Amino acid sequence: MAKLQPVRGTHDLIGDEARAHLALIDAARTVAVRYGYGPMATPIFEFTDVFQRTLGDTSDIVTKEMYTFEDKGGDSLTLRPEGTAGVARAVISGGLRNELPLKCFYNGPMFRHERPQKGRLRQFHQIGAELVGVAEPTGDVEIIALGVDILDALGVLSETTLELNTLGDGPSRAAYRDALVDYFTGHAYSLSDDSRERLTRNPLRILDSKDARDRAVIADAPVFEDYLSEDARAFFDAVRTGLDTLEIAYTLNPRLVRGLDYYSHTAFEFTTEALGAQGTVLAGGRYDGLIETMGGPATPGVGWAAGVERLAMVIGDPTPAPRPVALVGMGEAGERETVRLARELRRAGLTVELLYKGGLTRGLRRADRVNAAAAVLIGDDELGRGAVTVRDLDSGEQADVAIADLTDHLAAYR
Ligand code: ATP
Ligand code: MG
Repeated sequence: MAKLQPVRGTHDLIGDEARAHLALIDAARTVAVRYGYGPMATPIFEFTDVFQRTLGDTSDIVTKEMYTFEDKGGDSLTLRPEGTAGVARAVISGGLRNELPLKCFYNGPMFRHERPQKGRLRQFHQIGAELVGVAEPTGDVEIIALGVDILDALGVLSETTLELNTLGDGPSRAAYRDALVDYFTGHAYSLSDDSRERLTRNPLRILDSKDARDRAVIADAPVFEDYLSEDARAFFDAVRTGLDTLEIAYTLNPRLVRGLDYYSHTAFEFTTEALGAQGTVLAGGRYDGLIETMGGPATPGVGWAAGVERLAMVIGDPTPAPRPVALVGMGEAGERETVRLARELRRAGLTVELLYKGGLTRGLRRADRVNAAAAVLIGDDELGRGAVTVRDLDSGEQADVAIADLTDHLAAYR
């Protein structure tokens, strides 16, 4: 017997939920277009190397979350766990270097083998934006402003807090790393096993730990602020000044390190109290090292991604389906006419529901079920004189309308 349930951590998008996703993506894209961010879609799978080399051998994604498989040709492929690596790969392989800055907006499914829970799926969806080829702090400010305006368009901005940090430049990170190793080595006995492991491989990542024992040690750890080079500090100041100019409020969070290895300078997250432990809805930062790590020429970039499922949960209300006009045929000629009229009205831009089998009672019941705004009753007698009855289903008012005038008459229900 075939297994007929969906794979754990995946789900079907149907009805209201599917509509909510589409509406959300549309609203976000509309804002992105105003910022000059064009559409981009990279493949859902890439050579495993694309993620392995960029996300880093020690990241959670690479060590435990990737869906990796060998294809029939013997290549190791991975279902994309995030969108930035694919965009960076496309910049290199597609020769987009000459067209920088690249400003793109994407949406689509991502795959991570995580423990499924509320707001945490194995196939989930993201919207995201990338600005590749801009090294200036103005780029960071623009990409954050884009995130703010999208959250605002979705009506959730007031439920989120923007948390901001800097991961500095190379020299700052090296100095900070040493300070962290000193500190955490002194407290190694209090750390979780995972974090003791991170101590040798990637001490910065310990700051990201959600383990309660680690959190206690982290509370007194050195902060990045004290190890920033002059350049890195100036960069961060410029980003903050830019945000102040736009009156974008933020909270400094010195413990904010992104889960991925390729970030530098600005790191940010929009978090909410509304979703329990899965509180980050939109997250991003600057990734100046990414494209070089991948084997391309040094190319700066900054971007973010947001979880569609989490955003939809914060939005809450279902997106209403458009209210159709229902055509109800009565009698043989009437039923035939519904098919013709339905097509005509749809081509004129109306949303039309058609009853596949005729009859007034059945027709009105179905009109009610699809939340129709009006019913067009098409009976043989009226048809004989080229007319139909239009009934407004909210007010109950009826009108006798010539078929020739029907499109105009229904314009109010468009
Ligand atoms: P978390 O700390 O919650 O695991 P993350 O740092 O792994 O998040 P990112 O890689 O920054 O997440 O991805 C950006 C956004 O995508 C997250 O803020 C979240 O909204 C969403 N997201 C990430 N992983 C999942 C998942 N497994 N299921 C649903 N949404 C997710
Ligand atoms: Mg994660």
